[in-house]
Amino acid sequence: MLPPPPLPLLPPLRLSTPALSGRIESAVTLSTVARLVASGTAVSKADLVPAAGLARTTVSTAVDELLARGVLRLDGTRPTSGRGRPADRLALSPRGGHVLLADVGASAAHLAVVDLSQRVLGHIQVAVDVTDGPEPVLRTVESHLTALLTQAPKDVPVRAVVIGLPGPVDGQLGVPVRPPIMPGWHAYPVSARLQHTYRCPAVLENDVNLRALGEARALPADQVPLLFVKVGTGIGGGLVTGEGVLHHGADGAAGDIGHVRVRGAPDDACVCGNVGCIEAVASAGAIARRLGLAHGDEAVSIADVRALVSRGDPTAVGAVREAAGLIGELVATLVHFYNPARVTIGGSLTAASDELLAGVRSVVYQRALPLATRNLVLTNSVLGEYAGLAGAAVLGIERVLSAEQIGVLTSGR
Ligand SMILES: [Zn+2]
Repeated sequence: MLPPPPLPLLPPLRLSTPALSGRIESAVTLSTVARLVASGTAVSKADLVPAAGLARTTVSTAVDELLARGVLRLDGTRPTSGRGRPADRLALSPRGGHVLLADVGASAAHLAVVDLSQRVLGHIQVAVDVTDGPEPVLRTVESHLTALLTQAPKDVPVRAVVIGLPGPVDGQLGVPVRPPIMPGWHAYPVSARLQHTYRCPAVLENDVNLRALGEARALPADQVPLLFVKVGTGIGGGLVTGEGVLHHGADGAAGDIGHVRVRGAPDDACVCGNVGCIEAVASAGAIARRLGLAHGDEAVSIADVRALVSRGDPTAVGAVREAAGLIGELVATLVHFYNPARVTIGGSLTAASDELLAGVRSVVYQRALPLATRNLVLTNSVLGEYAGLAGAAVLGIERVLSAEQIGVLTSGR
């Protein structure tokens, strides 16, 4: 029997902390301290004081309460600078809770269980076809998540579930909204179903938004605003603001860039009903069609494109360059509009060769004005296919350790 594949190791992900102002509720203090420890940014009382921006006594009281309630535990000591005695090192208790993560793409899903200190306790990649509709896809997701839980430590409650789907979603209602490539999913109560299955809060997010957030929180804090452009079966975007949080827009449609049209694009028909959408002319799926490789199974077609490109097949490389030029036009426009610190190009094609990135770069640097590109970093994803899981881990752990929910942990429920 083959040994199981190694678990993806997520890098330390920075968690946001609640805004502090006026009289600070104790739940806000507890949330701030717990999130800073879970981030790994401050793991002793002395480090927490400047990191939290709270008084020493306030931090001390919060740490003692979180230790007494079993949310935090002592995890050895860490040396201090100078001659002081080593400080107690704090960590989230592994018994505090599990968070279930599902990053569902058009043809495959990454599923994982993490604890509140961001350790991946189980992971599996499974084939799914979102065109099958919500019932069979979510049944597959749930059965594998439940199986992963059996490998994790027993008697630890599931505190949150986070799922990403490849289409527009209403995060408030927890439903997909007219997703072009997901027939049967419109208004399906995804969050309510997972909430019922696992008896805990469930968060629904767009898959590219999850990648954008995961990427931003794995990078230094100065790499925002961050725009993530995913080029796969379709084309999608996700935007993390200068404050490090997702920008959803008024209705959750922000970043849904697959159906805009760019200069010079051919009139190919798109699944949305329009013609010439960037997704219809420059996605990996569109390149497969152009090369005559499209045959029913999109994942197979895209794998064929990848294989040709990594072998340096001139026709395939030419098609990728052409697509990169069109995507570059779009990215140049977005760079002018939002002035991001970083643009990350992700998705299945970027892993095969640097052709796509190089093409996008050349157009962006040629077309965008110097002020917008002076410090711009335009690069491939640092987390690759695990970016979505990282973003889901951030959302899930932040939810569990939020001021609104941390009472569930401290009350021992
Ligand atoms: Zn379209």
